[in-house]
Formats: sequence, C-alpha cells, structure tokens
Amino acid sequence: MATLSFWGGVGTVTGSKYLVESGGHRVLVDCGLFQGLKELRERNWRPLPFPVKNLDAIVLTHAHIDHTGYLPRVVADGYQGHVYCSRGTAELAKILLPDSARLQEEEAEYRNRHALTRHIPARALYTENDAYNALNHIISVHHEERSFQVAPGIKASFYPAGHLLGSRCVLLDIEGAGEDGKGRRILFSGDLGHTNPLILRDPAPPVACDYLLVESTYGDRLHDPTPPDEALATIINRAARRNSVILIPSFAVGRTQELLYTLRQLEDAKRIPTLPVYVDSPMAIKATELYLQLTNEFDESLLNRAKRLSLRTRDTHFTASRADSRQLNNARGARIIISAAGMMTGGRVLHHAQRVLPDPAATLLFVGYQAAGTTGRRILEGEPEVKIMKQMFPVRCHIERVEGFSSHPDYNEILAWLEELPAPPRTLYLTHGEPSATQSLNQKIQQKFGWSTHIPSYGETIELK
Ligand SMILES: [Zn+2]
Repeated sequence: MATLSFWGGVGTVTGSKYLVESGGHRVLVDCGLFQGLKELRERNWRPLPFPVKNLDAIVLTHAHIDHTGYLPRVVADGYQGHVYCSRGTAELAKILLPDSARLQEEEAEYRNRHALTRHIPARALYTENDAYNALNHIISVHHEERSFQVAPGIKASFYPAGHLLGSRCVLLDIEGAGEDGKGRRILFSGDLGHTNPLILRDPAPPVACDYLLVESTYGDRLHDPTPPDEALATIINRAARRNSVILIPSFAVGRTQELLYTLRQLEDAKRIPTLPVYVDSPMAIKATELYLQLTNEFDESLLNRAKRLSLRTRDTHFTASRADSRQLNNARGARIIISAAGMMTGGRVLHHAQRVLPDPAATLLFVGYQAAGTTGRRILEGEPEVKIMKQMFPVRCHIERVEGFSSHPDYNEILAWLEELPAPPRTLYLTHGEPSATQSLNQKIQQKFGWSTHIPSYGETIELK
C-alpha cells in the first residue's frame, strides 16, 4: 500500500513537508521551516511524527527556507540519507541554510539576553554547524525530465517551475502502487512562477500523473496587469525629479536580481536616468554571482538577445562590508538603495529606513509581499510612525509599491497551467496557501474542470489507490 501524508505547507504557505510511503520505503518531498505566526513556528520544535532515521530520501523543489529550512534539524536528529535537488537549489542552499542558522542562533541569544525564554538557556533550533552538516547530504541532479532512483521502487524527476533559480516541479514514480499494482505517479508543483518569469525559463507544463499537488498562494487573486517595468519607471522618474534617495527593501535572492535586470533594461531604453544603485546586502552579492553562473536557468529569449545577461545597472555598487554600508549615509542626490530584509523585519534596510522615513523628499518603494505584523505592512497601511530598532520614526517619505514582481502565479495563471495536463488526475490536492486562498482556488478548479479535488489538513494521510 502506498500513502501520502501532509506535514506542512497545508493551511499555510510555510513548512512544506510531504511524505510518500510505499513498500516499507519513505521519501520526503521538501523539508521546510514553519515561519510567521507563533503557533506555526512552535511546530518546528515538535519532533516529526515519523523517525527521520527511517527516511530513505529527501527531494527538494527549491531553495526557499520554507521548503528547505528544516533540513539542518532533520540531519541533527539523525537523518543519514541523501537530499536530492537541482544544481541551482544546491548552490542557493549553500547561501541560505547557513544564513538561516545564524538567524536561529541570534534569536536564541536575544532571548537569553532579554530573559524571554521558558527554557534556560534557550537553544537555537539548529546551529551553523548543523547547516553545514546538512549541506553534506545534498546530491545535485544536473539532468531534467529524466528519472533517477531515490529509494527502492521510487523514482524522481525534475521539471522547471519558473519560481526561483533552480526551482523544479517533482514527479515521483512509485512502482507497483495502487489497487491494480500498476504503479502511481505523484506530481508536486512546488512553488510555481509566473507564466513568463522575468529572467528564468517558463514553468514546464504539468506531466501526466495520478495525483497532483498544486500550490495556491495566490489562489484568490489576480496580479496588477501593469507590467513591473512600466510601474517602476514611473516611480523612479518621479523620485529622480525630487533628487532624493529611493530605498527598496528586497529579499536578496531572486527579487534583487529581477530588480537589477529591470532597472538595466529601463536605463538602456532611456526610460529612466542612470542613477547610482547600491546593493547593500552581502547575500545579494553572492546570489547575483550565482545567477550569472547558472545561465542554463535563464529564459532562452534572454540568452539569444545578449550573450551575457546584465544583472547590474550602469552604475551599480555592491557593498559587502558594514563600513561600506555606513558610507552610504553620506551619499547625496538621486540614488537607489536595494537592501534586505524585504519586509523590513531586520537587516541593513533598517539603518537606511531611519534616514529615509522622516525625509519628505525620499521614496520608500515596496516590490514584494508584506506579511501581516511586519514593519513593511504597517508602513503600507499608512501608520504615521513606526518603531525601528526600538525607536519611533515618523513616516513622511513617499510610499510606493510595484506589485508585478511577484514570484507566484495568480489564479488565472494556475488554471492555465492545469489546463495543460494531458489527462485529469485521480485527485488534485491543493496545498501551500492560506485557507481562504486555497478554498477560492478549489472552487475555481471544480467549476472549470470538474475534477476530484481535496484540501488536505495537517497530519492527514491518504491512501494512493
Ligand atoms: Zn518559494
């Protein structure tokens, strides 16, 4: 008997973990960290309901921490097998997992310093050392759309997902599964990208499968149809006329590279003036280098247009050290600063925000989702003052927003992707969404296709008949 069970990425967009069991063998697809609400984060501290020592393999869809960030813990708990992923995911994990560990350690240290813990001393969920140990288990798979054995009787294959460098849909082929013993195929969409991502190859159409898990992050919304370059040009030109700073909080991996690419396109087309652009994030520097190494991930049209893609503007400065970062405070005139964290929950962007927020000539430009409870969300919602590093700052600058950079498809794009399935699945499972988004997408899929669908709950186990 083969089963599928859901241990994260259901009822929420974080903590993705899907367990497939067949013939006494177990494969985990994604190994994500729960993030956001406290109730979810506490799940990270509970042991998994299955012994990790008995897992045969782990397969990853992509490198975002909500899909990989639990790996160091699983390895620290005794997992000894391989972790299979694409080359892009393997390379990004080398940047993201140690960084996640440092955040865990800093948080534990903060709780100890401020006596904010019931457990004395507070431990980190995992350490930087655990993260490096986890990286040693990674096997990077260079070929696509060709299956490879991950456990006895279970094969996997990867298909481009267009969501992040190295992101893939994962197909598991389970020999002998099902009532007829003919085997069953499960397709995991992972996180999908736009139909036409800015830099990356388009998501591949879904392959024929018996069971399909599809993400539903934006299952209840349509993206702003204004192309992001157009919206960006309008805002940059307006800000440039005021001859003042434009601060863009941005996640260092993915979004920052898209921004640099778009700004360069606008400069080359003379749609915006050439301004100094400061990328103030050591992680963004590493990630940009990686993007330029893995050009096989790029959309073909880009490679044909230019032999070498420019992921920098005409006047880009990468600031690696804290001293360089502080130097930025002395700069004057129209300039762009791109800095993490993208939701202003920490990082160097907070130092810049202290100067930008009270300045009526300055611009704060959001290019990503701002989750509830973050400083970014409070500013977007029009709070007149916000707390930055324990001090209140008035919000007097111009607040702008470009929506078109989203890395998830809206519901029309998901429906268009599903339409390409060669045949209806036996059951489609909706995952990776807040409940309202998932339910809304479920209705749309049933109306359009009339397929058998199910919204799984946390810990649910389903027999793959
Ligand atoms: Zn993702």
